[in-house]
Amino acid sequence: MSLTELTIAAAADGLRRGDFTAVALTEAHLAAIAAENPRLNAFITVTAEAALDRAAAADRALAAGTARPLAGIPLAIKDLFCTEGVRTTAGSRILGNFIPPYESTVTRRLLDDGAVFLGKANLDEFAMGSSNMTSAFGPVANPHRRRQDPDAVLVPGGSSGGSAAAVAAGLAMGATGTDTGGSIRQPASFCGIAGIKPSYGRCSRWGVVAFASSLDHPGPFARTVEDCAILLGSMAGHDPKDSTSADLPVPDYRTACRRGVKGLRIGVPREYRAEGMAGEIEALWAHGIARLREAGAEVVDVSLPHTKYGLATYYIIAPAEASSNLARYDGVRFGFRAAGGGDLRELYEHSRAEGFGAEVRRRILIGTYVLSAGYYDAYYLRAQKVRALIKRDFDEVFRGVDALLTPTAPSAAFGQGEKMDDPVTMYLNDVFTVPADLAGVPAMSVPAGVDADGLPLGLQVIGRGFDEATVFAVGAALEGMG
Ligand code: GLN
Repeated sequence: MSLTELTIAAAADGLRRGDFTAVALTEAHLAAIAAENPRLNAFITVTAEAALDRAAAADRALAAGTARPLAGIPLAIKDLFCTEGVRTTAGSRILGNFIPPYESTVTRRLLDDGAVFLGKANLDEFAMGSSNMTSAFGPVANPHRRRQDPDAVLVPGGSSGGSAAAVAAGLAMGATGTDTGGSIRQPASFCGIAGIKPSYGRCSRWGVVAFASSLDHPGPFARTVEDCAILLGSMAGHDPKDSTSADLPVPDYRTACRRGVKGLRIGVPREYRAEGMAGEIEALWAHGIARLREAGAEVVDVSLPHTKYGLATYYIIAPAEASSNLARYDGVRFGFRAAGGGDLRELYEHSRAEGFGAEVRRRILIGTYVLSAGYYDAYYLRAQKVRALIKRDFDEVFRGVDALLTPTAPSAAFGQGEKMDDPVTMYLNDVFTVPADLAGVPAMSVPAGVDADGLPLGLQVIGRGFDEATVFAVGAALEGMG
């Protein structure tokens, strides 16, 4: 097996046994990036030299017996996490030349645990999108192709499309992502890998470029559920620099993967049986239910009655928060500034008009509209009330079940040109993922099969707030069912 095919768990063992060095492991991944990134465009920035230095340091720590758990493990970092001294673009022209003077808490924790960063992964601009088509640095190609139509280039999903494509193609062993409305789970599903959005507050948002602060959840991608557990264990934990960070102990997620599902009650929410759902997605779901039953879980029908309001609620609250968060990009304090004279107001207007792409401008317009004096009560305030009802649905259902099982996305990966002219069609991708963001509960996508074209499909496991451990137990039981 080549070094780029190993799991994180196996690579950590191999490094400790001396089967290969951390430098060799990083070199293998840099070679894969050199060969495949021109086609995939998964990385915006590759930091080869720094990666090799870190790998050499990991080899010294391994030899001295002082290696941390992730010593020498090569990762991709979504280019939304600020990395000290390394350009951080958020996929936007407006931050195209921004070099942060500090490191985000999540990436700091990974570095402290010995991880090697290969570079910064492509994403939809400011993490707004489900296709990676809105990046100012160009689209990312999904490494998977349709069996029937192998020439069509498919999207990797979004917004963390570069992270997911890099892990799926063996350019990195794992990656960081963020999930505001589905941006870890949907790309994981489209690329055939695992990804978990932990509970809101489990991973610090400090140093992550803000999209919608009450919805932004950092989390990991990897090729296996256990590898996600290893990465989350390192990324998670209380951070006094993020006032919404939870001051709770982080359980051993890796052990949780081996716990099994015997005696667990799993709910199947009837509202997720979307009308016109593809037969293959239904079949996958039924297969997952059967698998959990065989493994000793009890599976029951449940109801989350406000599910149908999830998308509308999300597409009011997320743009509202985005319009406020993105007000700071004014051409004065950060990044891009439009050329030409004019007064201060023109400087703001031109810098923002030229610096932001079309989707980001659309969200700012929607956000300022729903927050405006005349429409605040009708849209924003009402959306906040509906959000409380959606959260209450989850609170109630989790009195009777330990976890929920649903599909991750309504389809497999689609073509790069598709769904681009109609934003509403694009937003429908998020129908199964946004409720867990609105409620702040943990949710994971597990690769669970393929469609008739050979494209990956994912199942979603949703858990109680701060009970990622049960999500890992159920995810591990579903893994490899394809
Ligand atoms: N697709 C959703 C959106 O466009 C979710 C993005 C995300 O989770 N960052 O807002």
